[in-house]
Amino acid sequence: MNARHARYPFLGDARQAVQAAGVDLADVVAEDDAVVERARERVVGALTDGDVGGRARSDRVELLSYPVARVLVSVVDEHVLVRKYADAEARAAYDRFTADETDDTELKSVGDDASLSRRDLLREFDLSDDVRETPGGYDVDVSTYLQLSSSLRGDDWRLVNRALDDGRVPVSEPELDLLLQQAVRDRVAEGLPLDVPDEIAEAMEAPATAVRDVLADMDLTREIDTVVPELFPPCMQHLLDQVQRGEHLPHHSRFAITAFLANVGLSTDEIVELYKVNPGFGEEMTRYQTDHIRGESSPTEYTAPSCATMKAYGDCTNPDDLCDAINHPLSYYEAKLDDADEDDLDDWREREDEETDAEA
Ligand code: SF4
Repeated sequence: MNARHARYPFLGDARQAVQAAGVDLADVVAEDDAVVERARERVVGALTDGDVGGRARSDRVELLSYPVARVLVSVVDEHVLVRKYADAEARAAYDRFTADETDDTELKSVGDDASLSRRDLLREFDLSDDVRETPGGYDVDVSTYLQLSSSLRGDDWRLVNRALDDGRVPVSEPELDLLLQQAVRDRVAEGLPLDVPDEIAEAMEAPATAVRDVLADMDLTREIDTVVPELFPPCMQHLLDQVQRGEHLPHHSRFAITAFLANVGLSTDEIVELYKVNPGFGEEMTRYQTDHIRGESSPTEYTAPSCATMKAYGDCTNPDDLCDAINHPLSYYEAKLDDADEDDLDDWREREDEETDAEA
């Protein structure tokens, strides 16, 4: 374990160094308070400041705190946390590798093995063939460009605003650095949330509670009040289609879609309106069931079933890649809303209002 591993803990050889040292994460989280504390600091800092905080003095503590922080993020298991944590780790890496690139001090020239060059990063992410140096900067294979720029905001990144030359997209050096930051972000987020063994999850309960408290204070797990059916998870899109085609749904499926629609912000009237196309529709019964689920005629406001329950009832339909990363249809929808551009969110209720206005 060396200084470079500590500075860039997402690198493949940093992971190998941890393995080669025979480190058992269960022992670390149970016994090494310094590592757990630095992991907590990474995660809390990512939430509060978008920053993973200053390095620990010990390379060992700094390096091991990275896998432990990933475990901590997984135990808390909130999409917004995964996103903010990966962003903060990627930003720290960006600050370091861009500083390494511009650092021409004597120390570096005599061989500072803690530094990482742009070329090292391209090799790390298997991008050496996809990114070529040109007299004006770099050009990037179009599919790699699309993949790495997909989360970057701003019209300048859109392919239609780029010169495309024989399947390659020219980018400047600072732009390449931002694309590499995205590659780091994807690496950090890869596999999160992890499947954490019970023994480790229990040992991490205190820092996990601390992180949950910060999340609760920041109110990042926002109330959803946006209805964009195109962003619903596949299971709910399927159930909604069935409702709108007038098909008869078993009770559990009807409960699932009704609770989901209520949870994302539809009123009882709007849900009743949606069900009216169903030939077996009984307004009074639908209104009663919907009010019940919404907690207006019962002591409980019901939440849509988790993925595990949906699967158990055969209501999980056409799961996609995002489904592998979440465990609740509402988390899927939150993730989609988080990733969408705010201006592109076309709320179904507003569409309905505009159509009504147009007809009037
Ligand atoms: S995995 Fe969950 S969100 Fe995805 S389709 Fe199945 S139930 Fe829906």
